[in-house]
Amino acid sequence: MVKQTIQIFARVKPTVRKQQQGIYSIDEDEKLTPSLEIILPRDLADGFVNNKRESYRFKFQRIFDQDAKQETIFENIAKPVAESVLAGYNGTIFAYGQTGSGKTFTITGGAERYSDRGIIPRTLSYIFEQLQKDSSKIYTTHISYLEIYNECGYDLLDPRHEASSLEDLPKVTVLEDPDQNIHLKNLSLHQATTEEEALNLLFLGDTNRMIAETPMNQASTRSHCIFTIHLSSKEPGSATVRHAKLHLVDLAGSERVAKTGVGGQLLTEAKYINLSLHYLEQVIIALSEKHRSHIPYRNSMMTSVLRDSLGGNCMTTMIATLSLEKRNIDESISTCRFAQRVALIKNEAILNEEIDPKLMIIRLQKEIQELKDELAIVTGEQRTEALTEAELLQLEKLITSFLEDQDPESKLEVGTDMRKIHHCFHYLKKLLNDKKIHRQSTAPSENKDQNCQEPLKEEEYKKLRDILQQRDNEINILVNMLKKEKKKAQDALHLSSVDRSQLSHGQSAPFPPGNLDGPKTLPLSAPTPALDSSTSPYRSSLLHRKTGMREEMSLGRQEAFEIFKRDHADSVTIEDNKQILKQRFAEAKALGESINEARSKIGCLKEEITQRHMQQVALGISENIPVPSVPDQLEEKLRSQLEEEKRRYKTMFARLKALKVEIEHLQLLMDKAKVKLQKEFEAWWAKEATSLQVNSLAVTPSNHMKPFPQMSEAQHERSQPLSNKSDVYARKILPSPGPLLHSQEQSSPGAPMEDRFPVSSPVHCGSKNGLQKKGSAPAAICGLLEATSDLDPSWEAVFL
Ligand code: ADP
Ligand code: MG
Repeated sequence: MVKQTIQIFARVKPTVRKQQQGIYSIDEDEKLTPSLEIILPRDLADGFVNNKRESYRFKFQRIFDQDAKQETIFENIAKPVAESVLAGYNGTIFAYGQTGSGKTFTITGGAERYSDRGIIPRTLSYIFEQLQKDSSKIYTTHISYLEIYNECGYDLLDPRHEASSLEDLPKVTVLEDPDQNIHLKNLSLHQATTEEEALNLLFLGDTNRMIAETPMNQASTRSHCIFTIHLSSKEPGSATVRHAKLHLVDLAGSERVAKTGVGGQLLTEAKYINLSLHYLEQVIIALSEKHRSHIPYRNSMMTSVLRDSLGGNCMTTMIATLSLEKRNIDESISTCRFAQRVALIKNEAILNEEIDPKLMIIRLQKEIQELKDELAIVTGEQRTEALTEAELLQLEKLITSFLEDQDPESKLEVGTDMRKIHHCFHYLKKLLNDKKIHRQSTAPSENKDQNCQEPLKEEEYKKLRDILQQRDNEINILVNMLKKEKKKAQDALHLSSVDRSQLSHGQSAPFPPGNLDGPKTLPLSAPTPALDSSTSPYRSSLLHRKTGMREEMSLGRQEAFEIFKRDHADSVTIEDNKQILKQRFAEAKALGESINEARSKIGCLKEEITQRHMQQVALGISENIPVPSVPDQLEEKLRSQLEEEKRRYKTMFARLKALKVEIEHLQLLMDKAKVKLQKEFEAWWAKEATSLQVNSLAVTPSNHMKPFPQMSEAQHERSQPLSNKSDVYARKILPSPGPLLHSQEQSSPGAPMEDRFPVSSPVHCGSKNGLQKKGSAPAAICGLLEATSDLDPSWEAVFL
């Protein structure tokens, strides 16, 4: 790290008239710091500054008088900075002074003579010369050229533009990353491999600057130009890259507004014409004052861009250009005062080094290769990525003997070769997995074999005994239920002779009357329609899949469940919700149809309008009449129809969306009820089974049969015929959510979805159940279709 204050130099521009001599003097004692004394002419001392002083003295690193050559300026000011840039530090040289004081001359140079070349071309020349000389490093040079005018940045090197005004140039903006590093967006970086290429870029930029300048914007005096040389260097084979930037800055004219020092007014109070110079001054003041924590860099683009150059990671040099003529005394004093403040700023330049990941990889790869070679020498064998066939075979043999070895202490010794160790692990893993799969696939047959070959174990006897007991219980429960149903049927016969025939085959009778003899004759595998067709294979598989609760359910238990469900109090609610859902679905179906109609109508109308338009154009061409700009009556009518249809479409669409929400909600309610019903059944069933086990054969089955839960005595009494009951209780129980009763009486599982919810036009909505068709369809329909496709198929059945 190099700590250094900003170096300040003064350069006095040659005066045209000799009479200006005597205004200043330069004191360059070798032992002391050089100083510049500005002597106020008598006529100015009283009237203008009015502070009774006759001279001002300012100290500089060096003061270059009028006869100083460009070469001298470069050697003394720019060369040391260029050297530190070559060493990897950032550098900045900026020229500050009033318009016409020689800033551009100093930084860029004069246009006439080669010897008038300024700091930029000379620095470029010097840098490239050094790069060529130094073969110990690989250098890359890039150039950028930025102009800041009125707080806007412009890229002077954009090759795509032939700027006729500043606005034609690409605008550059300042971005700040979280680490407070400044990035210039849109500023192009151009690689320059030779001095010539770099000079071409300088001229391209200067030309752009000149062309873009108009008398109105006076860009050359009111703008700042920052020519930057970006230098990267690295030693061959090293992954460390050094980056350094050299900013060569030609600032805007520093002249101020108030020149008249009215009665005691100090010169420093006069305001800059250029606002960003005002902010630069504020930054300089803040930096030169001790204990100032906040430096207002962000106030202007220029201070943001030069942030590092001012009080940061940079070696910075200022050249105060002075035009020491009588009329410029005040400005010259201002410039010198500004320089004195700048001289107080301390910068800390550090080497900007970073590791290039790409180079790092290359280096590591090389290192690996070297290590491999070394290893090969030590072990006497060349090692490749993969193991040889022979090695693999040998390893497998080792593993097999290791696995077969009964000795628990046995070891698998493969040496220190990591490839072999890894291979052993992989091989063992594979063996383990294969064994697992084998076990899974052979498990049932093995069991079977066991059953045949080995005598049944005690545990299995117990298990089978339990199952037998369970089945006994089931049979008993069912017999009880059967008897009850029979009794109900007989009671009903007594109650109403009119309904006799209906009841004997009716929905409330679960089994045909002829099958009441006992469990053996129960038609378990072929239920009657009265038992609810949900016990059909299709139905039961759905139920099974959806709930997962009846996995272990025997057929007998399923039968009991169906009856339990039918007689459950919630069945009324379920029925009611089913009805609502049915209604909603019918409505959705109708809406779907209407929406499709509206869509095709919209399509037709659009087609008609286009046709009409074409006709008009054709007519115009054939009869040579200009095509009317406003639509004719017919087209007008078609358009209003189209609008009307669109409105209708939108309304229906909104309703369909709302319906979808409602349907989904209802479905959720029914799902919930379904789970509740099943849980209650399980509880009831368990209770029944326990009491049966306790009472065993001692009690007559018909006596211990309890009514289903949720059923009041009155309900219980009136529970026949159940099919008619729902109407009676519906009003009472609603609107509480009820369980879903899987009723398939009205359903037809094979019916395609389109028939139920028609989308007649081609649809493509990626629905999950294979309803994919090409074309377009309203999103809501697609959504609804998708939603319904997700539904439990039993739910769909509700709407059939
Ligand atoms: P600024 O950029 O500060 O406005 P310029 O660099 O454009 O000023 O200088 C104004 C004029 O003075 C130019 O014509 C330039 O050639 C001339 N000039 C400035 N400094 C010198 C110098 N040291 N020697 C010769 N001519 C100079
Ligand atoms: Mg200039």
